[in-house]
Amino acid sequence: MAHDCIPGPATRATIYLQPRRQSSLSTQLRTKTVALQRYLHLIKWADTSLCPACGQQDETVYHFILECPAYEEPRRRLGQAVGRAKMTMDHLLAKKNTFPKLSKFIHETKRFEDAFGDVRDAGRADGQNRENMAAVKT
Ligand SMILES: [Zn+2]
Repeated sequence: MAHDCIPGPATRATIYLQPRRQSSLSTQLRTKTVALQRYLHLIKWADTSLCPACGQQDETVYHFILECPAYEEPRRRLGQAVGRAKMTMDHLLAKKNTFPKLSKFIHETKRFEDAFGDVRDAGRADGQNRENMAAVKT
């Protein structure tokens, strides 16, 4: 997979990767086009739609955020941060002030480490961070 059209790591990191990383992730979560198995399978990038963490169900955005037993501990912390009653997809993905907390959860699951790097910390960058789907290992 060629990446010739994408600026080099330094350029991307300093100019637009940092602010874009979170917004791109939040958009992808909302539109369900994020690099989870269900979507990757749908676009034929992956052989299975099963969640790699638990192997029990399709890895949908809902499963990843609210259901997967593998992420119980980070999810518990997210619940404490936003309040149990607000642990719904609508709230977590729609509210601007909730997304940083969701980002922290996502960071703790390490699920998108390859694709997005550290989604919590917009002040730090390295050339390994990619927002391109092509970077996701399946
Ligand atoms: Zn799972």
